[in-house]
Amino acid sequence: MSRYWSERLRRLSPYVPGEQPRDRQFIKLNTNENPYPPSPRVFEALDRAAGESLRLYPDPSCTELRAAVAARYGVRPGQVFAGNGSDEVLAFAFAAFFPDAAGTAALFPDITYSFYRVYADLWAVPFKTIPLDGDFAIRPENYHVPNGGVIFPNPNAPTGRILDTDAILSLAERQKQQGRVLIVDEAYIAFGGRTLIPHIESHPNLMVIHTLSKSASLAGLRVGFAVAGEELIEGLCRVRDSFNSYVVDRLAQVAAAAAVADAAYYDELSRRIIATRTRTAAELEAAGFTVIPSAANFLFIRFPRTPGDRAFAALRERGILVRRFNQDRIAGFLRVSIGTNEEMDVFLRECKRIAAEG
Ligand code: PMP
Repeated sequence: MSRYWSERLRRLSPYVPGEQPRDRQFIKLNTNENPYPPSPRVFEALDRAAGESLRLYPDPSCTELRAAVAARYGVRPGQVFAGNGSDEVLAFAFAAFFPDAAGTAALFPDITYSFYRVYADLWAVPFKTIPLDGDFAIRPENYHVPNGGVIFPNPNAPTGRILDTDAILSLAERQKQQGRVLIVDEAYIAFGGRTLIPHIESHPNLMVIHTLSKSASLAGLRVGFAVAGEELIEGLCRVRDSFNSYVVDRLAQVAAAAAVADAAYYDELSRRIIATRTRTAAELEAAGFTVIPSAANFLFIRFPRTPGDRAFAALRERGILVRRFNQDRIAGFLRVSIGTNEEMDVFLRECKRIAAEG
């Protein structure tokens, strides 16, 4: 704490991202990055764009990128907003659609992406968390109460569990009747889920948020986007234009547009990751681990006997980084990103050794 900090700053507890080690080579299974390279078309686009035009500001409305997203998902460019990573899009959405101080509480799960709580605090959004049920599933009917808006990821993080579309749509319908938004964070939807984007037309209160960090192998680029009705998209633009006109830089805009256009390349990567996930989950289960069913590019697992903190430290000592959340109900679990088959072989071998040590 510093005497120079505002009251508001003192009250924040910032998000802590997974470690990005610089001193040692790890098998890095801690931040859900994609183990495979981005599409070659991304590099071609970057080569073309890395030139003299960098002296000019980028297109503030990301026209080409939004056109690429619109074409890929069959929506209008006016139904797309691009930001500096989906984290930024999420932050803007919290500011744009959830009540401030005196309003009705916004709702999200108790176990979910931990940035939501941070954004709520940043913008002084009142919120309530809704507990996951006993097997870590979101129960959409628990959100059928008066609220200031609802947000959750589908699949959820860090559990990887996915919801069926109908349950989400009946919540969207209810939220529509209440005049409230439903924001679905589909950061991991490419790894086995079905996007809700086709339903934004019939639900003007539904916003779907995607990232290029996971399925498009572009975590280093920082691009995410929202797809929703024009009214909601305009709301995000109002926040952006009260903050920073140029949230997506020139290189990121062209590279992201190239990635979005190369669905065939990325569908193949996702298929590979799903196959590796399926095999890893089966081997862990056979060895007595608890494995939550996952539709994401990570698994949420518990060792048969080894406590979470011990398992985390033992893996780190053996050069494998995973993520652990020191929170009620999940402190015994580890979230493990799906790497290449070779990386997962090493991971599985070391897990079994650690488990055997007790
Ligand atoms: N949503 C969820 C559920 C996530 O796990 C992440 C990754 N940390 C993000 C959004 C943010 O992704 P990015 O800012 O890299 O687009």
